Amino acid sequence: MLLKGKTICIDPGHAGPGIDPGCVGPMGTDEATVAWDISNRVAAILQNRWGAAIIMTKNDVVDAPSDSLSYRASVANNAGADIFVSIHLNAGSPAAHGTETFFYAGSDAGSKLAQSIQNQLVACLGLTDRGLKTANYAVLRLTDMTAVLTEVCFLSNYDEEEYINRDDIRQKAAEAIAQGLVDYLVTN
Ligand SMILES: [Zn+2]
Repeated sequence: MLLKGKTICIDPGHAGPGIDPGCVGPMGTDEATVAWDISNRVAAILQNRWGAAIIMTKNDVVDAPSDSLSYRASVANNAGADIFVSIHLNAGSPAAHGTETFFYAGSDAGSKLAQSIQNQLVACLGLTDRGLKTANYAVLRLTDMTAVLTEVCFLSNYDEEEYINRDDIRQKAAEAIAQGLVDYLVTN
């Protein structure tokens, strides 16, 4: 159990349909629901296979307190989490596509973890590598531990929406995020 003693905080993006669904694809898939599903798969892998303790910033797919980003950071901080991973789906023009991962500017550890997760997602999903980006997102700024935010693919892109609606692809995305985290933790 490689991650025994480690606490991982998983942050499924957006409070959920009815409060904040996040982006919604052309077929009607909402970001919060997909992020919740992938997040739970990541949690199961890290807990059952690697022995990590898992903290989630949401208790259900619709969770009102999680509408506050500072609340999300406080969940991770209060739990003394070692790692914070926020899971989102991207939106842009209908043609925009691919995978990208964010870290807080100046965080060397954040950059390494982001690269590790990005590498696995690109290898496992086979989508365009949009690389790493920095952002001043509250969940990255207010968290005390190494934190990243990954945008798995574009829900606003019809092909990628269809792709991420497949059960096997959501599982692959979760496997990739978990493996990227493990890769980072064994080398840092
Ligand atoms: Zn989002």
